[in-house]
Amino acid sequence: MTTKTHDAIIVGDGPGGLSAALFLAKNGLDVVVLGQDKTAMHWALLKNYLGIPEIHGSEFQKTARQQVVDLGATLREERVETVAEDDAGFTVTTEGGETLTGRHLILSEGKGPRLAKLLGLEPDAGGAIPVDRNGLSAIPRVYVVGRSVRPGRSQAIISAGDGAAAAIDILSRNEGEPFADWDSPPES
Ligand SMILES: Cc1cc2nc3c(=O)[nH]c(=O)nc-3n(C[C@H](O)[C@H](O)[C@H](O)COP(=O)(O)OP(=O)(O)OC[C@H]3O[C@@H](n4cnc5c(N)ncnc54)[C@H](O)[C@@H]3O)c2cc1C
Repeated sequence: MTTKTHDAIIVGDGPGGLSAALFLAKNGLDVVVLGQDKTAMHWALLKNYLGIPEIHGSEFQKTARQQVVDLGATLREERVETVAEDDAGFTVTTEGGETLTGRHLILSEGKGPRLAKLLGLEPDAGGAIPVDRNGLSAIPRVYVVGRSVRPGRSQAIISAGDGAAAAIDILSRNEGEPFADWDSPPES
């Protein structure tokens, strides 16, 4: 049996992972997000997310999860146990023993970047997984975003921005030129 290779597998369903999923799915990529909705957002009352005066973190998550699904991403309520690089890309194994393969891997694990370390991405002295400004790690096609790359500087809007930057980098590399996800209102 041949296993389907997804365009991207995203581990982590907080603002970082969901934002990356939004941009990729909106632009037609086949994206799977794995997580169990255990994000720290459920303890947050956001008063600092630009454009939203105040929102409970759980309400934010509910809206974000639905938005991502509506755009075509698949959300799976599963924990990922292991990850490995292979010829097809990256294969993750869920706690249920299922394997999923993706050409790109986006890790948005929050404060405990266990899978990043499994891949050999060691944190720096400050505890951050080293990445470039688009979240690209030392391993081609592996992005690390959000709290995992900014311990001690964790804010929801920053994680969401990180996820967006990683997704736009993937879309740009796929296109071979800078990609802008821009929409305009209909002309009246
Ligand atoms: C009490 C409290 C109040 C806060 N208040 C604010 C606030 O007012 N404003 C603000 O901007 N921020 C606030 N924050 C911080 C905010 O919650 C974080 O900045 C944000 O959640 C980080 O998003 P993230 O996507 O980087 O990581 P997270 O939200 O931590 O998401 C990581 C997700 O990955 C999942 N995961 C990890 N490993 C695996 C795996 N192997 N398999 C599957 N899933 C996995 C985790 O379960 C989690 O759901 C607050 C946090 C706390 C704790």
